Amino acid sequence: MTTSLELARAAYRGVSLYSVDSAPCAVDLSDNTNLWGSPPAAKRVLRELADDALARYPSAYASELKDALAEYAGVDPACIGTGCGSDDILDSAIRAFAAPGDRIAFCAPTFAMIPIFARLNGVEPVAIPMTSSWDIDPDALARADARVIYVCSPNNPTGTVASRGALDRLIASAPGVVLLDEAYAEFCAESILDLAKASERVLVVRTMSKAFGLAGLRVGYAVGAPSLIAEVEKSRGPYKVSTVAERAAVAALMHDRTWVAERVGAARASRDRLATSLRALGLAPLPSQANFVFVPIGDAPAVARRMRERGVAVRAFQGLPIVGDALRITAGPDPMMEQGLDALAEALSCA
Ligand code: PMP
Repeated sequence: MTTSLELARAAYRGVSLYSVDSAPCAVDLSDNTNLWGSPPAAKRVLRELADDALARYPSAYASELKDALAEYAGVDPACIGTGCGSDDILDSAIRAFAAPGDRIAFCAPTFAMIPIFARLNGVEPVAIPMTSSWDIDPDALARADARVIYVCSPNNPTGTVASRGALDRLIASAPGVVLLDEAYAEFCAESILDLAKASERVLVVRTMSKAFGLAGLRVGYAVGAPSLIAEVEKSRGPYKVSTVAERAAVAALMHDRTWVAERVGAARASRDRLATSLRALGLAPLPSQANFVFVPIGDAPAVARRMRERGVAVRAFQGLPIVGDALRITAGPDPMMEQGLDALAEALSCA
């Protein structure tokens, strides 16, 4: 009998379906979304959707969303590409700029989907460890003989940022396209969007899943030279942003920026308080510029399991380069953080 594994392309045999523990949990601090909820104008649009939003196809490349994002990012609409979440943009960009057998180099540890998207596109992932000061190693990344180089800043899962000097050096010496993932841009003191405006080989990839509170709608975007954007959109294909998602995202970009800015301020303050509380527990969280805190901790999966038994979900990492085991905890409203810290303290005390 032929098994489905034999029918699939060989590169898929080592890849599993994405699995996180998604059983409902009273306090979910595991996915870096906006724990204050979703913005009001976007919710209003969803409540008042007209029939045409469902019966007809959306625009092929989300032109109204591009216009709104272009105004938000301060670029021409031709410099914006959209996708079904920034996952879709990253996957499409890897496929657009690297052929099967080519390499993508990335700074490790980083966003776990990158090596997976690489393999799904027949591209070889090459992990280059971060430096001991949590910076990228631009020379090693540039030397990896990769068609695509991926850097996430602020980085998921560490929350740390790549230094300007290292990014400039990387862009000056990279042989191919540099993908800069700025999913957590709004929470960071300094944006790196200007790097996409200044170089024809840089794409900055962003999302409306984090600060904008719209993860359920799946809206991501890229900013870069029109020539790069066109290749990503070819690779992505038409109709990837639904009419519903486009209308709500446009409303959020036009009317909800104050709501977003206020929640971003609250998330930053919560993040900094969380780091202080973790230090008070004798832990050493990394310096975070995102809406989460990353804290090295022995046997992180067991600690996360004990926290879950107490109704709190966090993300555990095991055996990461440079760091070893660690927990990633999303910053949210005070009552959630209090429950999260209580659960952590109890989980540590019964270790
Ligand atoms: N990049 C990074 C760094 C992320 O952390 C995430 C989500 N966890 C994504 C991209 C994908 O986000 P989305 O597809 O929701 O836009």
